[in-house]
Amino acid sequence: MLQIETPTLLLDKTRCLRNIDNMILRSTKAGCSLRPHFKTAQSLAIGKWFWERGVRQISVSSLQMAVYFAEGGWDDITVAFPVNILEGKRIKYLSQKCAKLQLLVESSSDVEQLDNLLEKPLGVFIKIDSGSRRSGIAAHNFEAVEKLLERIKICKKLIFKGFLTHAGHSYKARGTTEILAIQQQSIGLMRNLKSRFIKDCPSLILSAGDTPCCSVADDWAEIDELRPGNFTFYDVMQWQIGSCSLDDIAIATACPVVAKHPERLELVLYGGAVHLSKDSIVINGQTIFGLVAKLGKDAWELPDVNNYLRGLSQEHGIAKLSQSFFDEVVVGDVLAILPVHSCLNADLMRAYRDFEGRSYDHFGSYFR
Ligand code: PLP
Repeated sequence: MLQIETPTLLLDKTRCLRNIDNMILRSTKAGCSLRPHFKTAQSLAIGKWFWERGVRQISVSSLQMAVYFAEGGWDDITVAFPVNILEGKRIKYLSQKCAKLQLLVESSSDVEQLDNLLEKPLGVFIKIDSGSRRSGIAAHNFEAVEKLLERIKICKKLIFKGFLTHAGHSYKARGTTEILAIQQQSIGLMRNLKSRFIKDCPSLILSAGDTPCCSVADDWAEIDELRPGNFTFYDVMQWQIGSCSLDDIAIATACPVVAKHPERLELVLYGGAVHLSKDSIVINGQTIFGLVAKLGKDAWELPDVNNYLRGLSQEHGIAKLSQSFFDEVVVGDVLAILPVHSCLNADLMRAYRDFEGRSYDHFGSYFR
């Protein structure tokens, strides 16, 4: 049985497997291959659960993370982050190590420098901005895409794979209708690109996918692969967007109660920004940093939005509770905090435990 003394990241294996199974099923029904983004769990042990279900291709968010998974046996990896040309040695190593390695490019200088440093060919996607305004060439800018494609074609070591986008603006949606509108707008732009360039590049593929859109949309016609990651754990932000229920959230941080303040119905928890991150959302006009739930021996109870973290400092979490919940808690108890953003929560905690006390790896404990 698990003994908790300090903030500990708990993994609910049943919920996590259910999320994985659901997303595999959704992708299959949509006629897309699933290339899950491993930046959420960053774990070989959790990655194995995908492998056991037939997944052989993954996305990661850094070249270092690609090395972690390549050395753990994965050999079809897309680094779904703009290529960092300063890591030339790592790129070369990965191109030798992986049967299939794909990188993202968006400028002629990326392409030129990559081609010059490589010994073995690798795949490149042109990163497309389909509305998130983060990275990539604007989806309607056919001229810029064509120019870059021409540059890729004269490279000896780069194989053009297709167009890749991430509709990150889906995070601003609230509810299914708004998510679906963003998904249709974003994949509409990708389809336009495909019809413009398919004659020239008949094997090009379209890669898309963020957790809100992949959790809700069924129509992915002409999209070849989906790359959601957060769905592995989901979180309170995804619940607020409308991607999942609170019962789908598969990680929670177990935090000891270190002080009680009855006059303001608040607890001080050992669990702060260094454990949970400072990501917040607003519920009923209140900024919250996580939902507070009771913790049993082999599960946490479903949280109620009236019990939440209203403040965080480095190690302190300030929990605001309903009167009845507050009355039940004593100093020395341990409560579960469901994260606002599971990817950052896991990234900060760098290890998982399940209720039987088993540990699961996290890339962060090896590479930082
Ligand atoms: N692909 C890219 C390029 C991303 O940047 C991300 C996340 O940031 C994902 C896929 C996964 O999306 P999500 O975190 O919504 O699951």
